Amino acid sequence: MVNEVSMIRHSLPHAKARTGYWYVVSQGKLYLPDAEQPPQPQSLQQLGLELDGSEMLCQIGEIDQTPCYLLQYQDRPEPEHHWHSARQFLVFGEPHFEHAARACQVALFLQTHKFCGQCGSSMHLVNWELAALCHKCGHRCYPRINPCVLIAVVNSKNQLLLARSARHKSGFFSILAGFVESAETLEQAAVREVAEEVGVRIGNLQYVGSQPWPFPHSLMTAFIADYQGGELCCQPDEIEEAHWFDLDKLPEVPGEATLSGRVIQQLVKANSRK
Ligand SMILES: [Zn+2]
Repeated sequence: MVNEVSMIRHSLPHAKARTGYWYVVSQGKLYLPDAEQPPQPQSLQQLGLELDGSEMLCQIGEIDQTPCYLLQYQDRPEPEHHWHSARQFLVFGEPHFEHAARACQVALFLQTHKFCGQCGSSMHLVNWELAALCHKCGHRCYPRINPCVLIAVVNSKNQLLLARSARHKSGFFSILAGFVESAETLEQAAVREVAEEVGVRIGNLQYVGSQPWPFPHSLMTAFIADYQGGELCCQPDEIEEAHWFDLDKLPEVPGEATLSGRVIQQLVKANSRK
């Protein structure tokens, strides 16, 4: 795995013969001519996309020693139905989703850091790490990553607290989630979010895992926590409903390709062994 994004200094025509996994991004969507098939190692030429020289190109990692490249288009080539959300890559498994997520996030970084946020001069990419630097005032920027917490709250009856947010359809529930604020630990964010969203107190937080979530640049982290008191009271405009569910009688929840789905299944499996 290449940790840092290495910029390719070669011109695009020279890059045409390069073989690798190509993650082609335009305006937040990825090129996938067959939505059921992950990218296969091939040359840029074999990909069959027209280039006009305005595209950005860089290496964003490796899968089994085969390089993975990001190719960024300003204007999305036709046809529209060949372009998909990074969500489509969840079904292809971790290496492909991880590189699709990185491709989208790096593309967004390149697109939104052309000018210095401090003095307005042009930014330049540095070649030893993925950063944009202003040569005039020295301001340096890195790709933005927004940490989020997911919290699976379990009570003494071994019931799981699930909520439905205003943007989810009726009958679909998930564990609670929220963004980490400035100068907050992940644990403090989890305690605050649960109190704000459903009015209950939690403790005994256990870290479960994390997942990059490129919508547009989140890093999900997940905890299991014990309910410690308080009545369920949903935050208006955020949470439509929240209930305690028996782990063997759950409503429709996220799939296991997502971190929230994975945490829920971990609890369900642990409960079925009891
Ligand atoms: Zn500057």
